[in-house]
Amino acid sequence: MKLILLGPPGAGKGTVAANVEVLGRCHHISTGELFRQHLRDNSPLGREVRSYMEAGELVPDELTVRLVEARIVQEDGSIEDFVLDGFPRTIPQAEALDELLERHGTEIAAVILLEVDDEEIVKRLSGRLVCADCGQVYNLESSPPKQAGVCDSCSGELRRRADDSEATVRQRLAGYHSQTEPLIDYYGRRGLVLTVDSSGSPARTQANVGVALADLIDRRPDLARS
Ligand code: AMP
Repeated sequence: MKLILLGPPGAGKGTVAANVEVLGRCHHISTGELFRQHLRDNSPLGREVRSYMEAGELVPDELTVRLVEARIVQEDGSIEDFVLDGFPRTIPQAEALDELLERHGTEIAAVILLEVDDEEIVKRLSGRLVCADCGQVYNLESSPPKQAGVCDSCSGELRRRADDSEATVRQRLAGYHSQTEPLIDYYGRRGLVLTVDSSGSPARTQANVGVALADLIDRRPDLARS
């Protein structure tokens, strides 16, 4: 199944995607994570996108679409099932993705929209910590590490993301409302959007996503086999 996760920064897209990946054998593709890997490697692309990311702005569409295309199209020209986390974020990105999928004879099965209000997002992201080694995400309020500053899984150092300061989070939220929210209509017109309440705990959101996907498979049993 080819799925898109839509929702503001901090809505829980990464957590949901990781679970869907395990359940449905889809590849979890996070454009934010791909870009952060380029920053860590200090690659030419990393140097090009650093200033956008640190300011909480979107990377230009053309660079982002190229990154995604290189990641999802296999050497034999096929496209494996995926759950996209953080892409598309603009109408031109969505159009480019549609064209790419059409060229390869495939399409999106559904768009999962994670709904949560802005103040909850600001609260969540100000408490978010990420393991510098394995990428595991913690939250000081809802899912703290056992030992302060240390990853439970790999003992790596926990850090705050540079773009999780309140001012940058508000900037990213403004970008979400103006540039990404129009995608709800773009996909909604094709009946693809499954709206899920993501204002509660990660476990509750995960359960809500499970119900939405089970409903979808009831309506479209062909998707369970694809
Ligand atoms: P995320 O981890 O999804 O919150 O992404 C972190 C940052 O990476 C964003 O604030 C953008 O600077 C950049 N980024 C990730 N995905 C995209 C995208 N689809 N379009 C443009 N910029 C992106």
